[in-house]
Amino acid sequence: MIELTDIEKRFGDNVVLHGVSARIAEGNVTALVGPSGGGKSTLLRCINLLEIPTSGTVRIGEEALTFRPGHKVGWASVQKLRRQTGMVFQNFQLFPHRTAVENVMEGLVTVLKWPKEKARERALALLEKVGLAHKADAWPATLSGGQQQRVAIARALAPSPRVLLCDEPTSALDPELSGEVVDVLSQLAKEGTTMVMATHDLRLASKIANEVVFLEAGVVVETGPASEVFGNPQRERTKRFITTLT
Ligand code: ADP
Ligand code: MG
Repeated sequence: MIELTDIEKRFGDNVVLHGVSARIAEGNVTALVGPSGGGKSTLLRCINLLEIPTSGTVRIGEEALTFRPGHKVGWASVQKLRRQTGMVFQNFQLFPHRTAVENVMEGLVTVLKWPKEKARERALALLEKVGLAHKADAWPATLSGGQQQRVAIARALAPSPRVLLCDEPTSALDPELSGEVVDVLSQLAKEGTTMVMATHDLRLASKIANEVVFLEAGVVVETGPASEVFGNPQRERTKRFITTLT
C-alpha cells in the first residue's frame, strides 16, 4: 500500500538516504529503527513530503510521485500525496493558542473546509478515543506531555489518513507518561491503523510493530517481520545494535 522506491535524499553534498526501498502493507505497523543520524526522520519526512526526495518514487495507495534532480513537482500533487498521511512529532507541536479540541479540528476546518460543527464532533470523538474527552477545552500548556502527545495523535488521525507517521513519539516523555502514549498507539495498531514509526525505543518497537526496517547511514541494513529481526537478526550490525540496547 505504501511503496518507497529507490529514495535518495541529499542535503547539498551530504547524501542522507542512499536509495531506500520499502513496502508497507495496509494495517501493518513498521518500526524504523537504527542509530541516531541514520536517516529515520528524513525518511519519514520524505514519505509525507515535508522533505522532497532528491530522486525516487513515493507511492501511497493510488497516489504516486516520482522525483528526479532538477525536475520540479507541482505543489498540488505534493499536497494530494501529503493528505494521505498524518504525522506525530517528538515534541508534539500543538498550536499553543488553540484548545485541545481546536487543535484536532484545525486541519479539518482550514484544509478540508469542513463546517465547524461537524469538525468539532469528529474532534471530540477522537479525543474520546485517546482518553481525553474531559480535556477538550484545555490549553496545551496545561496538559502533561503524554496528554499533549495524545492530542497530537488525535489531530493526526482527524482527516482519516491512510498512514500515521510517528517520529520518536515517546522520546520527549518520562517513562510513566510515555506509557499512556504507547497504550494509545498499541490500541490503534490493534484496530489496524497503518503506521510507520521511527523510534530508538526497541521496547516500544517490539510491543507495537510487526515489521522492522533497520536503517543505518541512509541504507536499509535489514528488514523483515519484527519477531525475526528482533528475535533472530541476520546481520551482524543489527545484532550488535539490538544487544547494546536491550
Ligand atoms: P535520525 O532520525 O535517524 O536520527 P535524521 O534523518 O535526523 O536521522 O538525520 C540524518 C542525517 O541527515 C544527519 O546527518 C543530519 O544531520 C542530516 N540532516 C537531516 N535534516 C537535514 C537538513 N534539513 N539539512 C541538512 N542536513 C540534514
Ligand atoms: Mg530522528
